[in-house]
Amino acid sequence: MTSRTILDKWLAPVGRRFGILTDRLGGRVLLHGGVTLLIGWLVLSLLVSRIHEHLVISQNERAILMVTRSVAGAMNTIMLAGDAEVAEDFIANLQGVPEMVDFRILRTDGSEAFRDNETIGIVNGRLGGQRFPLRKQAVPRQVMEKDAEALRQALAQNREIPVYGRDAASGGKRLTYLAPIPTQDACRACHGDGETHRGIIKLTMSLAKAEEEVVAARWWIFGMGALIGVVVMLLVFLVVRRSAVTPLERMAATLGDVIVPDRFLEVEGCQEFRQVAAAFNHMTSQLNAAWHGLRQERDKLTTILLGSREGIVVTDSTGAVALINPAAERLLGKSADRIREEGFLTLFDDPDHLGMLLEDHRHELPGLVYYNARMLQLHAATIRDAGGEPIGSAALIRDVTREKALEEELRALSNSDALTGLYNRRRFDTALLDEYDRATRYGLVLGLLILDVDHFKRFNDEHGHDQGDRVLQAIAGVMRGHFRSVDYPCRYGGEEFCVIMPSTGVAGVLRSAERLRDSVAKLSIDGLNVTVSIGVAIFPDEGRAGSDALVKAADQALYAAKKGGRNRVCHFIREAVVLRESQLAAPS
Ligand code: GH3
Ligand code: MG
Ligand code: MG
Repeated sequence: MTSRTILDKWLAPVGRRFGILTDRLGGRVLLHGGVTLLIGWLVLSLLVSRIHEHLVISQNERAILMVTRSVAGAMNTIMLAGDAEVAEDFIANLQGVPEMVDFRILRTDGSEAFRDNETIGIVNGRLGGQRFPLRKQAVPRQVMEKDAEALRQALAQNREIPVYGRDAASGGKRLTYLAPIPTQDACRACHGDGETHRGIIKLTMSLAKAEEEVVAARWWIFGMGALIGVVVMLLVFLVVRRSAVTPLERMAATLGDVIVPDRFLEVEGCQEFRQVAAAFNHMTSQLNAAWHGLRQERDKLTTILLGSREGIVVTDSTGAVALINPAAERLLGKSADRIREEGFLTLFDDPDHLGMLLEDHRHELPGLVYYNARMLQLHAATIRDAGGEPIGSAALIRDVTREKALEEELRALSNSDALTGLYNRRRFDTALLDEYDRATRYGLVLGLLILDVDHFKRFNDEHGHDQGDRVLQAIAGVMRGHFRSVDYPCRYGGEEFCVIMPSTGVAGVLRSAERLRDSVAKLSIDGLNVTVSIGVAIFPDEGRAGSDALVKAADQALYAAKKGGRNRVCHFIREAVVLRESQLAAPS
């Protein structure tokens, strides 16, 4: 867990409890700084109070040691003066000193001196006579164990040994010094030279007062620390608030409005904040320039989209329709709301078709859709970002109804003969190639007949060229009604006509040719009559060498029909039979 999350986890609720918002910079400074300062204050206060306590105790220790040494010196002087009674009074006086808990002179075995007549007896014995009077009341007392560690240590090391303890009743701390009294030359006269030490001074003083001072000082240190901490914290908070929080708050408040063009940040405070504001203002002016440019481009684009005669429908990356221009509504005959509701794929009620156009990336040619009584040309494409990811789809719809109609008209004109309205020679040539090819490939029969008006030159000469034209138109009219829709009645040139009859055998072609000849013969144009001669050829019986050979065969049959007397049908390879049948049908 990071320090940030720990702080947020533990401090945020604490902060809230005291009305401090930890998501605000000031709140964070106050709370986090406060906690840091609290920890520092505790550690520092503990450290200072411990140091102070140590100083006080060691100072007391030194003072008591001095007292002990002074007492030891005084005792030595008294004893050397040979006045043991004075020594006892001295001891009694010292015990009355305030802070002095206990003062005794011990023998090296831990028993209290000046309490019995043991030493007096030995000294009197050594000096002879009754040099020192015996005590009337002898009360021997063992103060310390003979083997007590501190006692042995003081004697062995010949120096003062401190022993800390507590008062059994009050529990107050106290310090005892055990100070050995070394045997001097002057002592030997009374005490002999058997022992290195004459005894031990045991001086106990109370440290309760010192302890009280330490406790009082501790409270003072903690209190002053806390006070200083609070003052420092408040100062830090005020400084941070003035130099950082307030400028930041002002900056944040203004930032929201900066999106409004030509509004800039004005920040007072530290140089860093002024630098940030300057950088931000620079960025804002750049953004404003870009924003103005983009808005102009968008306006241009909107004008183009709205004014476009082509319908435009665009989706976003989710497939929802995001843009529809008025032309799209008009061409599709649907409102923008309905287009949005029905979705992009059902623009033309056929989701599969549009889906296919979108999926097929190689599909470069536009699709043609007959919709809403219009022929619509559709460009559909998937829009991709720079990485190739699809971010939408677009459909470009163009009304090509009129274009297609004109195209159809043009195609019909280019294939038809101006005078008669039948197919022209060009169309005849392509249709014959196609049908010949088909018949060859699939083993089909193909009939061809060529028709020529008899003595038409003479007719023109007699009735005029215009009348001749009307005759040609009338014959064309008969032909149009005579043949099947799969047949190709054409004007071959001048007063010659051809008819291609796919999948029609010899009997069918001859029958049809004969009926046509008969119809024309019976036709009255402005009271005038003409006849026609017809040559017939059937693939594969004839024209195996190619379509030209088939035409040639039909032409030869026509020639035979002319030669045979006109107004007849002639099938070249069955000339005899046909001639007979035709003659039967022909008017006499
Ligand atoms: P045949 O019975 O042998 O066919 O005799 P014909 O007079 O018809 O001889 P040919 O076929 O050689 O004559 C063609 C004539 O058809 C010549 C021309 O005056 C006439 N003609 C050709 N094209 C047109 C046309 O577009 N309009 C008119 N009115 N006459 C045409
Ligand atoms: Mg002719
Ligand atoms: Mg002719």
